[in-house]
Amino acid sequence: MFKKLLIANRGEIACRIIRTAKELGIKTVAVYSDADRDALHVEMADEAVGIGPAAAAQSYLDMNKIIAAAKETGADAIHPGYGFLSENAAFPRALKATGIVFVGPNPKAIEAMGDKIESKKLAAKAKVSTVPGHLGVVEDAEEAAKIADDIGYPVMIKASAGGGGKGMRIAYGREEVAEGFASSKSEAKSSFGDDRIFIEKYIEEPRHIEIQVLGDKHGNVIHLGERECSIQRRNQKVIEEAPSPFLNAKTREAMGAESVALAKAVDYDSAGTVEFIVDKDSNFYFLEMNTRLQVEHPVTELVTGLDLVEQMLKSAAGEKLAIRQKDVKLMGSAIEARIYAEDPVRNFLPSTGRLVRFQPPKLGTENGVTTRLDTGVEEGGEISVYYDPMIAKLVTHAPKRLQAIDEMGRALDAFAIEGFRHNISFLAVVMRNKRWRDGNFSTKFIAEEFPDGFHPPVPKGAVRDALAAVAASIDHLSNMRRRMITQQMQGEMVRFCDVRLVEFGEDLVRVGVEGRDYPMTVTLGGEGTGERARQVEVNSSWWFGESVWEGTIGGEEVAVQVRPILNGVMLQYQGVEAPVRVLTEREADLMALMPIKEKPDTSKLLLCPMPGLVVSLAVTEGQDVAAGDALCVVEAMKMENVLKAERDGKVSKILVEPGDSLNVDAVILEFA
Ligand code: ADP
Repeated sequence: MFKKLLIANRGEIACRIIRTAKELGIKTVAVYSDADRDALHVEMADEAVGIGPAAAAQSYLDMNKIIAAAKETGADAIHPGYGFLSENAAFPRALKATGIVFVGPNPKAIEAMGDKIESKKLAAKAKVSTVPGHLGVVEDAEEAAKIADDIGYPVMIKASAGGGGKGMRIAYGREEVAEGFASSKSEAKSSFGDDRIFIEKYIEEPRHIEIQVLGDKHGNVIHLGERECSIQRRNQKVIEEAPSPFLNAKTREAMGAESVALAKAVDYDSAGTVEFIVDKDSNFYFLEMNTRLQVEHPVTELVTGLDLVEQMLKSAAGEKLAIRQKDVKLMGSAIEARIYAEDPVRNFLPSTGRLVRFQPPKLGTENGVTTRLDTGVEEGGEISVYYDPMIAKLVTHAPKRLQAIDEMGRALDAFAIEGFRHNISFLAVVMRNKRWRDGNFSTKFIAEEFPDGFHPPVPKGAVRDALAAVAASIDHLSNMRRRMITQQMQGEMVRFCDVRLVEFGEDLVRVGVEGRDYPMTVTLGGEGTGERARQVEVNSSWWFGESVWEGTIGGEEVAVQVRPILNGVMLQYQGVEAPVRVLTEREADLMALMPIKEKPDTSKLLLCPMPGLVVSLAVTEGQDVAAGDALCVVEAMKMENVLKAERDGKVSKILVEPGDSLNVDAVILEFA
């Protein structure tokens, strides 16, 4: 086995790899860019080497700097993680001359699978079912239209060098082919420097299901079952699980066998993933093979009990696979939720900032249920614009799928993150979504379930009751505390009953609390409120200053986030974010007389939806614009976002110029 491993990556995956290396007694070397000087992976590694500026091209993507760092520290192996250099065959080739071992597959396999057209040809040769389409480069829009007509609509226009969901367009008819071809081509050129395009059938109601394979340098290849990754936004995964709720044993076996055949065809000798798209009739088609560790590998680890990083290190060191296909047993169900610094309310636009609070839920295994967190950040850290906005992965495992989902829901409720926009509330809502829970979805899930984008739910039903009960109990504790301080309640126990109203915006709930401390009995509704009376037992060990209220309501385990605000608390639960105030009846009567503060009118302003850099302006002062016209291009986290006019109008004033760096909600221009 290796003595010292350099990890050519950052963030959660670098930390993940360091963890296994430590368990195996291997020394670790981190590399870091200027932006990552204080990052968690640097702290965790035994040694760390700076490799230059924040821009990845000048640091994490610069193989010469990484090789120099390995030589300088005497590392005998390099794990590339995912992204960056992980699928660049030139990297292992360059390493060969140095004697440093690449922890990944042989460069030929990377090359063969790195190109979507070439890998499809190879797959077809290995008798793997591929998406019907044209196995070649499409030269121009005219040829594209002809091919699309032959395949039959809808079709998917794709970049051969594509990745990360980029350079992909769907066309439902001839007209859309020309447009899709042009935009795929230009996106492919700017993202990958390679504008070869191909066309295949668009599989309707597709599910994304992939097979994890594992090979060694002795010709052995096995598969570790599947992961389903159909919950995607912008063709990028957000929630993954193993096993898929859709596959039966026969289809799983068939997909596994084809994946192993494909891996063997390229002498695959590490961990890799064969991605398929599966239609509603369980027909499956090869999409591509990823020749590296996948982001979502933890769900496979939890259902197989294997450590994939350990397996990769062993294969790279020349060891034979210790497991045979028949030894692979899939146990229980695992769910992974990717935590992104992005705003689900603003179409998942990336967000940046300092992690003011990062307080994960309780981790570990209890009663057969595991909660795992793979993270690359810690409180006080900075989420910069330079890298991927994924900051952590929360993973749960339980004997049954719904148990793993419920556990994920609770863990998300208890995960306190502050300092920038993130997608925890969105993930928490999905965990309670019926179609997700029923396993009845396709890759269009997010688009179908949130057709107008994500809006945090308003509190109602059981969620409203739970929030009212928590708010009332906190208010009650605070009143009791005040009484204790003023020495008004010394002496014997007093049975205490306190009737209040809980206010969520315009919605008032009558609550009564009995008991001096937890457990308390909370009565909701009743007494002329038009709501029937409900009584729940509320118990917790929460105390002031704690950001998560954990306890039971009516015997159910509940985690609610609590943040003090003026005259009340901000509560967060199951995706609901509600400012709550508890009022006496008299206060409630008076509140009704208070004037309502109007929100400032921003309809005549174009505000910057995320922190970013102004790339260009498409309009000038005095110009008339129609709804849908491009106004300005802002770059954030390597993505160019075109801001468009929401309605017809006239630009009266422009307040920014290209090159300006803007904060969220900065005014870009004004309309007359
Ligand atoms: P990338 O390498 O950019 O991630 P993939 O080929 O893996 O691209 O596709 C990403 C996602 O796009 C898939 O998970 C699936 O949701 C969708 N997709 C790709 N090809 C097709 C297709 N032919 N039909 C339907 N959906 C597709």
